[in-house]
Amino acid sequence: MKGKMKVALLVCCAAVFSMSLVAYNYQQIPPPTVTMLADGVYHYFGFFTSSLVVISDEEVLITDPSNPLRAQSLKEEIAKLTDSPVTTIALTHEHYDHVGGTGVFENATVVCHRNCQTVFDLDSLGDVPQVDETFDEFKEIRVGDKVVQLHYLGPGDGDATTIVYMPTERIVATADLYEPRALTHKNWVDDKNFTGVRHILNTISNWDVDHAINAHSPGTDPVDLQENVEYYNDLYDAVKAAVEEAVAQAGGSSFAAYGLFDTLPQTMELEKYSDWGQYDSSLPRHVERMLLAIYHGD
Ligand SMILES: [Zn+2]
Repeated sequence: MKGKMKVALLVCCAAVFSMSLVAYNYQQIPPPTVTMLADGVYHYFGFFTSSLVVISDEEVLITDPSNPLRAQSLKEEIAKLTDSPVTTIALTHEHYDHVGGTGVFENATVVCHRNCQTVFDLDSLGDVPQVDETFDEFKEIRVGDKVVQLHYLGPGDGDATTIVYMPTERIVATADLYEPRALTHKNWVDDKNFTGVRHILNTISNWDVDHAINAHSPGTDPVDLQENVEYYNDLYDAVKAAVEEAVAQAGGSSFAAYGLFDTLPQTMELEKYSDWGQYDSSLPRHVERMLLAIYHGD
């Protein structure tokens, strides 16, 4: 997107977002934090959302500017660290709370998994970016002497979930798959493929990392990742066992699992996680979504 159209969209988006600021009292958003994770690598956390920031003498790579106001804040914080321009924006997935605001970084190349575009083509609000480069399974980007890898490991939170990995610095940005000691809120699970999330989390838990960034919390402790691997494995095992039992009782008919949609979400407990945030409100939806993924594929 170029020139006037880009400016118009930016102004339009800023206006729309300003209205939502009033509605949601966004004036009370905490100031952003910027944490150095390794030499030239930072975690920006602002507007309740994470960005990885990778800096070299020549250029900067960021993830997920999210929206124009947040992008402006991110730009200001980066300017305190370097004079290098943002040249690459890697989007961790297609969801609109992550992909807006790219126009704030003029001339940056926007990279997203190829599945982003099919969703962006359905956009209703006019706040999706122009994608400049796509990839299928893997893409490696160099920022000075740093290597940034983009991994597509299948459907997760949406269909374009991209795990950003810096093997030398031992840092992973895990898109929007989990929160520390909390179940993802029930309102945000409809587009999560639960067996896909389990697969991705299990895969990246085998990578040696010192920091694991997640989308909507400020911490980067890999323990949070490992605990969520356990949670998704436990949820999977419990739901799968219930499906297998129902099918066995029905003499092997997989149609027996239909009935579980009316009962299992209301009855299943995972006591081990009962002190996690949003356990009571969101576990039934997690059970339902895992049941659907096991039984139906998504
Ligand atoms: Zn998100």
